[in-house]
Amino acid sequence: MELIGIIGGLSWESTAEYLRLLNEGVRARLGGLHSARLRVATVDFAPVADMMAAGEWSRIAAVLISEARALEAGGASFLLLATNTMHKLYDEVAAAVSVPVLHICDVTASAALAAGVSRVGLLGTRYTMEQSFYRDRLALRGVTADVPGAAEQAVVQQIIFDELCVGRVEAASRDRLLDVCRSLVAGGAEGIVLGCTELELSVRPSDLDVPVFATTALHCDAALDLALGVAVDV
Ligand code: GLU
Repeated sequence: MELIGIIGGLSWESTAEYLRLLNEGVRARLGGLHSARLRVATVDFAPVADMMAAGEWSRIAAVLISEARALEAGGASFLLLATNTMHKLYDEVAAAVSVPVLHICDVTASAALAAGVSRVGLLGTRYTMEQSFYRDRLALRGVTADVPGAAEQAVVQQIIFDELCVGRVEAASRDRLLDVCRSLVAGGAEGIVLGCTELELSVRPSDLDVPVFATTALHCDAALDLALGVAVDV
């Protein structure tokens, strides 16, 4: 089993989910006492969130690159950037190391296409929804993403940062997220991408009657394929 390097802490609520899913996945695949071989870096999210809000993306890139290099030096065979939003900086991070960085959008697009879905509704942070980096990467793979309107984006952003990233999972907020999903489906989306690694702490695939692509779970599953030598379609 290859050693997986994880850049986490963005937020740690979802990094904990990565650790759980990766270990449960190894147990399901290998059985017995097997568990995932991981090297995990977790950053302090507060200054990073401030830098995002200030648009200081090059400062964030420096943080991520430093963690990526440390994981590579520590023997990681490949890296996961355990957050959707930070894939805005994917090219900079990937260029700074010689090991592969498994792109969360590529994994997600593959899952959508495998389910016969080529038009999705995308929920994520404000940065992921309003900027084009995420939609562009999905489009490269043949998946079109619709995003909510500005007012709904603000609701999703507030739930992610004020609740899910600080460990609060509220039923009323889940209902609001589901309303946003349903309006995207009413507008023509054939499936929903939970394009923030905390969203699946709230919304469950069974809450909707279209395919739901939970990016944390998909990222972990593809990482296990890579770590265990199964061919990955990305
Ligand atoms: N974990 C979130 C994501 O997947 C948001 C926090 C962040 O900005 O990294 O986008």
